[in-house]
Amino acid sequence: MALIVQKFGGTSVGTVERIEQVAEKVKKFREGGDDIVVVVSAMSGETNRLIDLAKQISEQPVPRELDVMVSTGEQVTIALLSMALIKRGVPAVSYTGNQVRILTDSAHNKARILQIDDHKIRADLKAGRVVVVAGFQGVDEHGNITTLGRGGSDTTGVALAAALKADECQIYTDVDGVYTTDPRVVPQAQRLDKITFEEMLEMASLGSKVLQIRSVEFAGKYNVPLRVLHSFQEGPGTLITLDEEESMEQPIISGIAFNRDEAKLTIRGVPDIPGVAFKILGPISAANIEVDMIVQNVAHDNTTDFTFTVHRNDYQNALRVLEQTASEIGAREVIGDTKIAKVSIVGVGMRSHAGVASRMFEALAKETINIQMISTSEIKVSVVIEEKYLELAVRALHTAFELDAPTRQGE
Ligand code: ADP
Ligand code: ASP
Ligand code: MG
Repeated sequence: MALIVQKFGGTSVGTVERIEQVAEKVKKFREGGDDIVVVVSAMSGETNRLIDLAKQISEQPVPRELDVMVSTGEQVTIALLSMALIKRGVPAVSYTGNQVRILTDSAHNKARILQIDDHKIRADLKAGRVVVVAGFQGVDEHGNITTLGRGGSDTTGVALAAALKADECQIYTDVDGVYTTDPRVVPQAQRLDKITFEEMLEMASLGSKVLQIRSVEFAGKYNVPLRVLHSFQEGPGTLITLDEEESMEQPIISGIAFNRDEAKLTIRGVPDIPGVAFKILGPISAANIEVDMIVQNVAHDNTTDFTFTVHRNDYQNALRVLEQTASEIGAREVIGDTKIAKVSIVGVGMRSHAGVASRMFEALAKETINIQMISTSEIKVSVVIEEKYLELAVRALHTAFELDAPTRQGE
């Protein structure tokens, strides 16, 4: 008998009919003899609806109160799923994050899980009940409700699996696994049987929202067997694994990630003297703004240009801070651009292959897509391009790295 944590995402519990279907699925697993803990998201669209409501009161809602509100979405689905299970003769009980006691820090809207009390859940499982836990939420040491950031139910699922030493954590969603890239953008994308934690972590942090980054971090850290599957179609899904098999057929890159979440800022004509990067980025970090990519040009005429990217939500704030810095250090001007996109190729196979970056640049050049910024690490190469070329770039790279699914004759 195995202990399995199953997480169902928003579209999988998006209607009462789907919740009933999920209940049928859980019932089958239960009848197979497994102990089941289910984690659910809010019904699809519900979290956005709640955030919109809050924004009608205030453009920047008080984080604590926002958490009190957005956590209600998951409270509805745990109750509905438990009812649907009980209706089918499957004993079930629902718990909010507070009731389980998923203890987090107090960083509202992006809290981190510190500890999970597994006593109640274990007692329920022992008594033969399916335990249904609200994803995305926890409670801090003062009893305040917290949430884990968008997509946070994945993290609840993996953290519970780690705490309970579950045999597997299954993430059920609206695609049948992790693909070489978002199948909604590239129809020729292919499902991967396996992907390493390291690659999945890069994919998630570079924009593939199929798994929340923290859930992958957790799974890697606690070695939780993690699988992504379709909620309503049978199939093996994708296993996220530790081992990096060396096989003849290992592709150079495993996937392509992209995001439209960033904006670019450039400060021009900066005096080229020691300490200048700190003078520029110090105030940005003091304003609590995270910087992603950074490029500093070679100086000429004793001045240089300095460019970096931030999350689009932080753009206005960053622009204000940078303009202030520019006047203090005597820089020539500040310019910004929000219409950018970042495209990244990811793969552990890159370690053993030369020329991956140039192959990427060649594919983009063929489509006359201009590269604005570049950054690399051991297993990824990212470029910033104009947003309007995003889809073209992803498709071109998918083809250039031979990731396209073979087309059948006549197609
Ligand atoms: P859920 O509500 O179940 O958590 P999400 O919308 O968060 O589902 O994640 C699933 C979506 O992730 C898919 O519908 C797909 O469009 C998107 N996605 C992005 N990149 C990938 C990828 N590489 N493989 C699979 N899906 C991806
Ligand atoms: N309901 C939350 C969100 O939409 C958490 C989740 O679905 O994982 O972000
Ligand atoms: Mg999700």
